[in-house]
Amino acid sequence: MGEKQRGVTIWLTGLSGAGKTTICRFLEKKLRSQEYKIEVLDGDVVRKNLSKGLTFSKEDRDENIRRIGFVAHLLTRNNIIVLVSVISPYRVIREEVKAQIGDFIEVYVNAPLEVCEQRDVKGLYKKARVGEIFDFTGIDDLYEIPLKPDVECKTNQESVAESANKILSKLEELGYINSLLLSQLHNNYSLI
Ligand code: ADP
Repeated sequence: MGEKQRGVTIWLTGLSGAGKTTICRFLEKKLRSQEYKIEVLDGDVVRKNLSKGLTFSKEDRDENIRRIGFVAHLLTRNNIIVLVSVISPYRVIREEVKAQIGDFIEVYVNAPLEVCEQRDVKGLYKKARVGEIFDFTGIDDLYEIPLKPDVECKTNQESVAESANKILSKLEELGYINSLLLSQLHNNYSLI
């Protein structure tokens, strides 16, 4: 790793099934292999502990994001690279968290709703369509697309490695990882 690493929060926002968790896992593996200190805050995991009991109402969704933002802030200021993977549908609260953290990269993980629904990784779109669950983002709840994301991953057009590479390039451009790492990661893609 060389010199001391700088903390940063990489915030992946997008519809359920857009690819946030998949890209996160990929990045986590790559960065850990180079001995960067990483922490992952995944929306589904957070809702089982830090945000247990919160609903999907607007108010509770905002509370969920504030809690995640607070933890990400603490970790970032202690020089950890924080990977956050959470739908985070509302723009204002994303902006609030961004302002709080400072070292923040917003990644819009973008796949059309039809694609996410067809993937239906967790079977939730089906449930939302037949009315078994409510307030589901993209179906009967709003998703406000980021207006100026730092990175946009179009996961219906790119491989996971390509999407992750866009994020790594941004990290390198902003000086959070060194370029040597990036080239090593490029060379390693063949091993995946
Ligand atoms: P989310 O965490 O956003 O709900 P997941 O990562 O759980 O979404 O699921 C995304 C699905 O899309 C996975 O089955 C993954 O293999 C697939 N996929 C296809 N292309 C990509 C890509 N470029 N980036 C991320 N996921 C992709």
